[in-house]
Amino acid sequence: MLRCPRCGGYTVLESLECTGCGLAVGLHPPTLTVAEATSSGVEIDGRTWIPCSNRSWGCNWLVADDAGSAQCSSCRLTRQRPDASDTIALEKLANAAVVKRRLLVQLAELGLPIDPFYEREGGLAFDLLSTNSGQGRVTIGHANGVITIDLVETLDDYREALRIRLREPYRTMLGHFRHEVGHYYQWILVEQTDWIDECRELFGDERASYSDALDRHYHSGAPEGWEQSYISEYATMHPWEDFAETFAHYLHITDTLGTAATGGLVLHADRVDGLVADDVVPRSSYHGAPMSVMLEDWHWLSLLFNRVNHSMGKGDLYPFTLTEPVEHKLDFVHRVVQDAATLNAGAPILT
Ligand SMILES: [Zn+2]
Ligand SMILES: [Zn+2]
Repeated sequence: MLRCPRCGGYTVLESLECTGCGLAVGLHPPTLTVAEATSSGVEIDGRTWIPCSNRSWGCNWLVADDAGSAQCSSCRLTRQRPDASDTIALEKLANAAVVKRRLLVQLAELGLPIDPFYEREGGLAFDLLSTNSGQGRVTIGHANGVITIDLVETLDDYREALRIRLREPYRTMLGHFRHEVGHYYQWILVEQTDWIDECRELFGDERASYSDALDRHYHSGAPEGWEQSYISEYATMHPWEDFAETFAHYLHITDTLGTAATGGLVLHADRVDGLVADDVVPRSSYHGAPMSVMLEDWHWLSLLFNRVNHSMGKGDLYPFTLTEPVEHKLDFVHRVVQDAATLNAGAPILT
């Protein structure tokens, strides 16, 4: 899928040029395929596609020349950004934009709706701002479709120090984006639909006071034995956080399985210790498959990926344990996502 249009060599999502032949390439958002990036434009499906005007700082998406904007559909989703004179913050913005594009590709692959804020009230927007940058303290969060990300978290030393202080096994920019977009989708796909009743049974009543929950969490921490029912300590704070954490894990799992599938990875039952059933063949899409199939594939692949990381002297790739209650919550997310994808079927998600 992500193949160079000239030599057929493989490219990655972030590629600005083909490593095989040097061709300048870009992502065509509606089809999620790689095309040549040239200022004269390439014709795809009857429209002419040119590089995004932010290509000079790393954006590799294409935009239709009749789109009414020189920016691609990912860059246009950014509602607020650091001041143009703040070069240090802009460097962090470029790093965060890579992560945002990866997120959007996955949402489109899953078939989730991406309705931009500039097209409708409450649509998706990103405020990518930086603490210590004249904009005051930035708080990561979601409200009415707007996701706010603190760009200072692109700095490894800052983010790692926070991770250790908060005793989190995992903290990444991609994780932040996935968590916050989980709040957005709970808001539009669950709270505004019939899914809400089952959601409350599984995650609790999201109408509970958030500020009380915040106080309680930062005074007394997660309740004893939280590991039995929650994916993380943070998930115990409030039903909204439980859903967002679970949603982020759904994206972690499906993306990693998808990458393994695209890479052609198969675990042969006769060559894997303990694997007695069938070969494990990860899929690029689990649409239509029961959650149990995805979880079984993930069980074996995450064991392998954790050991791969150990081989490089790193910690677990996936430092989490899935319990039965957490699996039920993941199954709920899986059904909500598939339901939304079925409703959207046909139309391209990204423009
Ligand atoms: Zn090439
Ligand atoms: Zn762009």
